[in-house]
Amino acid sequence: MSTKIIITIDGTSSTGKSTIAKRIAKKLKYIYIDSGAMYRALTYYAIQKKYISKTHYFEDKLINDLESISIDFKNNILNNRFEVHLNGISVENKIRSLEVSNLVSRLATFAELRKRMVATQHALGNEKGIIMDGRDIGTVVFPNAELKFFLESSLKLRAKRRYDELTLINENITYNQVLKNINLRDSQDINRSNSPLKKASDAILINTDQLTLDELEIKLLSFINPLISKNL
Ligand code: C5P
Repeated sequence: MSTKIIITIDGTSSTGKSTIAKRIAKKLKYIYIDSGAMYRALTYYAIQKKYISKTHYFEDKLINDLESISIDFKNNILNNRFEVHLNGISVENKIRSLEVSNLVSRLATFAELRKRMVATQHALGNEKGIIMDGRDIGTVVFPNAELKFFLESSLKLRAKRRYDELTLINENITYNQVLKNINLRDSQDINRSNSPLKKASDAILINTDQLTLDELEIKLLSFINPLISKNL
């Protein structure tokens, strides 16, 4: 039996982090955590409460509510997927809307909210055997993770990938809206002062432009497998 490790995958929006992380997690029988879903769930909550919109953001009100908000992951036995739950209810299908996407990176700049998310993420990684993707996972959440990846891909390909995903779930959306949203989020995520998106110095940089999903999986496993067997 191999010792379980922590694997982090960071990168800009829609580089395919979650798709590959899910595949690897399934293969290794690891838990996959989509940390972006946590920020999205919090944004969805803030929208419902009218704490955030294009024109206003009542951060204090959201912070006041933080203690009573629960965000966690539960396995959906119907599709065997770890889904994000907000106060006990799955919001997996609600958090991918353009409205949430347009507001999430603004909300994610606030230190108090990040502190709370990071504490939950730490708890999830307690027993290792976890693969988590996001923006600050290798730099802030698990700086001592055994293996870190940083994925990059061209803006056009990322926008196309995201657009295809969104049209599949019937979101009424145009390619240009998706492109604009990805651009905006990248710039907010990279330029924020608190836990900005950046490659950890010890992360392995992978450009996914020319790789199929199978090839990407083989590449990641070529780093993971030796490390897992070294821990036998
Ligand atoms: O991963 P996803 O694109 O769903 O993330 C949505 C947003 O959540 C990101 O654009 C970013 O603003 C925020 N996020 C973050 N830190 C993470 C994961 C996501 O700030 N670890």
